[in-house]
Amino acid sequence: MNNVFVYCEITEENRIADVSLELISKARKLADGLKVQLEAVVAGYQVQQLESSLYPYGVDIINYADDEKLFPYQTLPHFSIVTKLIEEKKPQICLFGATSVGRDLAPRVASYLRCGLTADCTSLEIGQYEDKKENKTIDNLLYQIRPAFGGNIIATIVNPYTRPQMATVREGVMKKEIYDPNHTGEFVRIDTKNYVKQSDYCIEILSREIEKQKIKIKSAQIIVCGGYGMNSKPGGFELLQQLADTLGAEVGATRAAVDGGLAEHERQIGQTGVTVRPKLYIGCGVSGAVQHRAGMDQSSKIISINTDPNAPLNAIADYTITGDAFEVIPKLIQYYKKNSK
Ligand SMILES: Cc1cc2nc3c(=O)[nH]c(=O)nc-3n(C[C@H](O)[C@H](O)[C@H](O)COP(=O)(O)OP(=O)(O)OC[C@H]3O[C@@H](n4cnc5c(N)ncnc54)[C@H](O)[C@@H]3O)c2cc1C
Repeated sequence: MNNVFVYCEITEENRIADVSLELISKARKLADGLKVQLEAVVAGYQVQQLESSLYPYGVDIINYADDEKLFPYQTLPHFSIVTKLIEEKKPQICLFGATSVGRDLAPRVASYLRCGLTADCTSLEIGQYEDKKENKTIDNLLYQIRPAFGGNIIATIVNPYTRPQMATVREGVMKKEIYDPNHTGEFVRIDTKNYVKQSDYCIEILSREIEKQKIKIKSAQIIVCGGYGMNSKPGGFELLQQLADTLGAEVGATRAAVDGGLAEHERQIGQTGVTVRPKLYIGCGVSGAVQHRAGMDQSSKIISINTDPNAPLNAIADYTITGDAFEVIPKLIQYYKKNSK
């Protein structure tokens, strides 16, 4: 059977990265639709203990390579393991996180195997394709769905004739879902000697420094997002920070706000920023361009504060406050402080 593969990334704390668990949750559904098995590919050091964190998400087979030299990630050894495994097992679909590792590895694998790759998909589905030239219909293809032409259209890309069908997906786009806490499967050891050449270990890491992430926007439950409207008077982002501190929230920003020097790039939400799914998103002076919405429209509750009642963000907001954010935000802070005692 041509199964579905997910390449699993290992974090600095030696656990499976969230983006990989999100992909597995989606891949489980794809595999069910195709009536095939879901396989994870894990390469790292002391990865055996990770099996219990993968099976509940629906993995049927874990292919794992365990070697001191496989952690931290290096391109060539991981590339050799993934490509050889794909050549042996011939999966029909292979998914990677759109992280710095995935963006390094997936194009190299796709280029070597001469198959396509769709980067930064926002949705993955199974569907059929009508080849009008050949006058035939091909079933069970991976629809690789993503914004195109600057986000103005949503393109569905199919790869009818080469395998595997490959895609990357950014963190936060798919939802991490437990499939079955009691689900178990096969654990297949990859003998690294047969997969990785000595010359693949051509990089020697002399020292590593890990920078602590200060901005935790991806995991924030409440996000107060500032748009370029917060530049209409001085102190806009300071005011947003006060609201964020009051609510225990993180400050996010639109690209216009980031480009305008109002916030750091790490705070940018959207197509070229991060994808977030907070319980509450409050957009202040955010117009709600399609490229911004692509990164926040899965938020559980959305509030839009805008002087323009017709701002596009209002169309997807649960609550809208039409007014000047510089007047509304201090009132919200005051109200919250008074009522949360
Ligand atoms: C390829 C591509 C990728 C992109 N990627 C991203 C991305 O990742 N993230 C992103 O955000 N954008 C992205 N953009 C840019 C996007 O198209 C918009 O330009 C941007 O999101 C607009 O930001 P904004 O809403 O802050 O600014 P504006 O569109 O200028 O909107 C400002 C809003 O503030 C309101 N306002 C003004 N003053 C006040 C006030 N005092 N109180 C309340 N409201 C007020 C206005 O009515 C207006 O609605 C991308 C664009 C392209 C082409």
